Amino acid sequence: MGQKINLLQGHVAELIAAGEVVERPSSIVKELIENAIDAGANAITVEIGEGGIRLIRITDNGGGIGREDVPTAFLRHATSKIACEEDLSHIGTLGFRGEALAAIAAVCRVELLTRTPDSQLGTRYCIEGGVGGECEDAGCPQGTTIIARDIFYNTPARMKFLKKNVTEGNAVESVVQKTALSHPQISFRFIRDGVDKLHTPGTGRLKDAVRELFGRSVADNLIEVSHEVPPYRVSGYISKPQYAKSNRTLQHFYVNGRFVKTKTGMAALEQGYKNVLMAGKFPACFLFIEMPSELVDVNVHPAKIEVRFAAENDVFRAVYTAAKSAILNFSDQTAALSPAQAKAAAEQPLPLEKGTGGWRPAAPSTGGSAVRGTGELHSPTAAPRTPDGRYGIGVSGAAADLLRRSATLRAEAQRERSESTAERSVPKAVSQQPSRPSGVFSAGAERRPGPAPHQAATRPRPPPPPPPRLPTVVRAYLGKR
Ligand code: ADP
Ligand code: MG
Repeated sequence: MGQKINLLQGHVAELIAAGEVVERPSSIVKELIENAIDAGANAITVEIGEGGIRLIRITDNGGGIGREDVPTAFLRHATSKIACEEDLSHIGTLGFRGEALAAIAAVCRVELLTRTPDSQLGTRYCIEGGVGGECEDAGCPQGTTIIARDIFYNTPARMKFLKKNVTEGNAVESVVQKTALSHPQISFRFIRDGVDKLHTPGTGRLKDAVRELFGRSVADNLIEVSHEVPPYRVSGYISKPQYAKSNRTLQHFYVNGRFVKTKTGMAALEQGYKNVLMAGKFPACFLFIEMPSELVDVNVHPAKIEVRFAAENDVFRAVYTAAKSAILNFSDQTAALSPAQAKAAAEQPLPLEKGTGGWRPAAPSTGGSAVRGTGELHSPTAAPRTPDGRYGIGVSGAAADLLRRSATLRAEAQRERSESTAERSVPKAVSQQPSRPSGVFSAGAERRPGPAPHQAATRPRPPPPPPPRLPTVVRAYLGKR
């Protein structure tokens, strides 16, 4: 005889569904920040206590929620962002599933304060374990504050899987950083156990946000990327070739404004640095890939961290050519340094590395010597650490090193170009580039002023070599690492 089949009770089903969305405090913070962004806020404050396990409070100055909609917002599949099936292929907001508030309210004690611009009086609403109270009047500023307390208070089995407060708090901080980077026009403030941890200026300039979040050392060692392979556009920053990190923690990819993990993007970026970085060293990036929404499926991961591309090859090609051409342009500009400038640059102190995660020169250089046992590179005039000690560098790297690398790059580009001519089957998007005005070569106006132009550097550069074919590269690459 078969087992009896039970239809689960509503609240059990809610708890199961909540498990998909809410894994830990940082998942709650991610969802609530996304809601604040979707609500049009330009200032968002995230406050946590005890790693977010005890308390999460997110305040925004967005459009708020009308009182009549408040209880509905906490029901599963309740959303103001899409209305029908067709909308699923044109998602322009960060949220769309109508699940987050329901999931959070199923596993936390939640309090909401909200006021819309057309209302004098705000609303307070409490919901615990999925059971809501009455809407009450409340005096509050325009926008929304959501407080989520005691995550998993009603599911002790899940509570056990939470890590230490400090680990959970770090995960929250990372979410705030990633989101702040994708929205430099929004001022983000993060308070951890009463201490102000970060406050982005909200100027709309990505570099200002990078500087605030990772320090000058990182912000001053970036190359701008601005590249189009219609219908794709890739923009943002990648690290200068002479800088590298021993892990990928500074690699940030965004697809249509959404932070994502993308192996394709990662492989394409690192392929762009081929021959300029030592094995085991990784570039940093803050790269924004934009494409028509029908070319990307964001509905494939419970936390929307992964996406599926309709044309993986094209995305690879766009990121690769964007990174490669930015590196080539940069090496041209550096090669244009006068001998005196090159000497001065070469005499600058070397970047230092903090612990294993920091930056270090990608290859031995003339400007400093390794100090055994510390894992850091030493220079008598080394720049001091930033006050919080996160990244102990504050200077640009040695140009001599770069000049050597730029020669390697040019030789490699030359070789790849001649190989690709012989190969004949040049990918369409890449082969079209030279004739398209919006391609790599029109990006000059967007470039920041570099060193005194060298004659050779002012000549228009031939297109970057076409990327290797995706499947081979990704397979080889991912197999290796
Ligand atoms: P989704 O974001 O997928 O629509 P949520 O469960 O996160 O689903 O939110 C449900 C609805 O509640 C949203 O569609 C939105 O209308 C409203 N909402 C949630 N948070 C906010 C906020 N901070 N400001 C304004 N409206 C919000
Ligand atoms: Mg949402």
